[in-house]
Amino acid sequence: MNFRRTTILCSAIFFAVLAALIVWPRTAMTRQQTSQKSQATPTIDEYQPKSTLVTKEHKIERAKFPFIDIHSHHWNPTAADVEQLVKEMDTINLRVMVNLSGGTGERLRNTVAAMKGRYPDRFVVFANMSYDDLNTPGFGKRVAARLEEDVKNGAQGLKIFKDFGMELKYANGQRVHVDDPEFDAVFEKCAQLKIPVLIHVAEPSAFFDPWDYHNERWEELKEFPGRARPPAKYPPFETLMTERNHLFAKHPKTNFIAAHLGFHGNDLERLGRTLDSLPNMYVDIAAVLAELGRQPYSAHDFLVKYQDRVLMGKDIYEVNEYKWYFRALETKDEYFEYYRKRHAFWRIYGFQVPDEVLKKVYYKNALKLVPGMDAKAFPE
Ligand SMILES: [Zn+2]
Repeated sequence: MNFRRTTILCSAIFFAVLAALIVWPRTAMTRQQTSQKSQATPTIDEYQPKSTLVTKEHKIERAKFPFIDIHSHHWNPTAADVEQLVKEMDTINLRVMVNLSGGTGERLRNTVAAMKGRYPDRFVVFANMSYDDLNTPGFGKRVAARLEEDVKNGAQGLKIFKDFGMELKYANGQRVHVDDPEFDAVFEKCAQLKIPVLIHVAEPSAFFDPWDYHNERWEELKEFPGRARPPAKYPPFETLMTERNHLFAKHPKTNFIAAHLGFHGNDLERLGRTLDSLPNMYVDIAAVLAELGRQPYSAHDFLVKYQDRVLMGKDIYEVNEYKWYFRALETKDEYFEYYRKRHAFWRIYGFQVPDEVLKKVYYKNALKLVPGMDAKAFPE
């Protein structure tokens, strides 16, 4: 009796478990299928596939050689800011930081005092133009005079921001063209003072294109609609390029550093041709690493061919973001994530350049262009 009851109970449990084993996965499968069916196509933000690629990774926290960041912005830095900055710079082998946002007049003097006053060989400050008196005759000559004064007060270059050529207008509504003759006196003064001009002309060409699903900067324009450069309000990209090239051509004794690969990072052959035709033109790689990183073979060959014309720069200062530059320039790592998604939905590849090229990009080219820097602080 007892034995029989136990047998029935065991059989009941056995069949229950068996039934559960057969039915449960089916239920689970059905649930999964249902949830997959009910799941709509993910949005571009929702779709975050994890790469399954296993390949060598070199996380480089510190540049192989001391380097100069030719493109950085520090507005009115305090003593405490500068102390902190130097500590951070030391961790990544950033030897000299070029602050492009020095301003002019008193502000320039204060910035030079705050940075170079404390660490004379760790900082360089570039002056900027003031447009306050743009509509008063003789503007260009006054800017040139102010720049001369700024250089006496410690400025080692001139930075021109992107409003020049796009937003800056005379009182009569006329846009200031990049090659406006009014500014000739300024650029001639730069040649005379032997200081370089770092100039930001235009924006990525995609910002001038329609904001539609074919635009590769769609995400950035969604996040920052003000970055769009629609034709109703702005000159076309090509007009700005023509004006820029004309500016460089008419001041052959002035050295120009076109910021952000001159916005030709997506067409390195064109950039090469432009550099060929303008021997006084240089470029920095600030904030356009993803352009080089998506074409590692072309980027490598371009940097080797134009090794005397390219300078290291980062733009927005963030000590933890330089490592992507080191990794791209110094390794052959493949298919790694870039640090700013809005610049690039794609992953990038290292294009490892030879040490001699790396040294030029990291510091030798900047030492040639910017006066008053101590070359002895860098390797041969
Ligand atoms: Zn900048």
